[in-house]
Amino acid sequence: MNNISFSRAENIESAVDKAFNQEQKVNFIGGGTNLLDLMKYRVENPDHLIDINRLDLSKIEATADGGLLLGATATNADTAYHEEVTKRYPLLSKAMLSAASAQLRNMATNGGNLLQRTRCYYFYDTSTPCNKREPGSGCAALEGFNRIHAILGESEHCIATHPSDMAVALAALDATIKVAGREEDRKIPILEFHRLPGDTPQIETNLKKGELITGIELPQKGFAENYAYLKVRDRPSYAFALVSVAAAVELEGDNIKDIRVALGGVAHKPWRKPEVEKNFYGKPASPRNFESLAEELMEGATGHGDNDFKIELAKKTIVRALTEAIEK
Ligand code: SF4
Repeated sequence: MNNISFSRAENIESAVDKAFNQEQKVNFIGGGTNLLDLMKYRVENPDHLIDINRLDLSKIEATADGGLLLGATATNADTAYHEEVTKRYPLLSKAMLSAASAQLRNMATNGGNLLQRTRCYYFYDTSTPCNKREPGSGCAALEGFNRIHAILGESEHCIATHPSDMAVALAALDATIKVAGREEDRKIPILEFHRLPGDTPQIETNLKKGELITGIELPQKGFAENYAYLKVRDRPSYAFALVSVAAAVELEGDNIKDIRVALGGVAHKPWRKPEVEKNFYGKPASPRNFESLAEELMEGATGHGDNDFKIELAKKTIVRALTEAIEK
């Protein structure tokens, strides 16, 4: 049995200080919906837990520049059903409500959602090699059963995917993650928050030691008119995405003024290429252009055997999501 100590954070500064200064392994805990599972499986073995639930971080409120701030400890349920979110950012609401179960959404927090870890089976099975769990041990998924694994951005060290639906919608919306640190508070664009595995798959985000997520900022533009979130999975609820697509379009007549496509279930982070999207500005919002965009977005995709089907599935899901978005 491991001894674990526990403390409650009284304020952000002391929580960050404590997490920074500890020699031991420290985790912040909010809803704990993923962390406690990982501790039961002995995948996460913290020495100390800092409960952040008493911090004043659960508000959902307007920002000075017309956007919306989602507090880090606001629950996924409170966020997804919040009037401003359903009205101005329905894409985010839909993505969040497609995730997990009602019970889990009632507990899971926004900050924790971004930090949840992969559902790679081998990551949870401590009897198998896994570079993410134990760097240098190998990757059982490469030669194993890899139906749920990545087709984009993966490395020879890890082919895991990020499981969040919320993060995929946030990627399409260009959200920013607010972080408190020992030296400074900073904001990280969502596309720079998560990392690709490279040769350090155990490092999943660009958070520095001791840094705490305090909130998520949504910009003013919410694409409430033309959006879609499509999640393809093995059963209709309480399952992770094989492929998910967050699609958002701004139209000018029949032409594309702005377009965003973010993918989940295909990479170690939400997958989006703004440089590809820009190629379609001013072009007709037509099936042919959506197909071209899907081809460009999926360029370089590789299967690993069991997950080869995801390449075609992702392309078709992109086209369907964009078609649904403009038909709204
Ligand atoms: Fe571990 Fe990543 Fe390989 Fe899964 S894919 S076994 S998480 S290294």
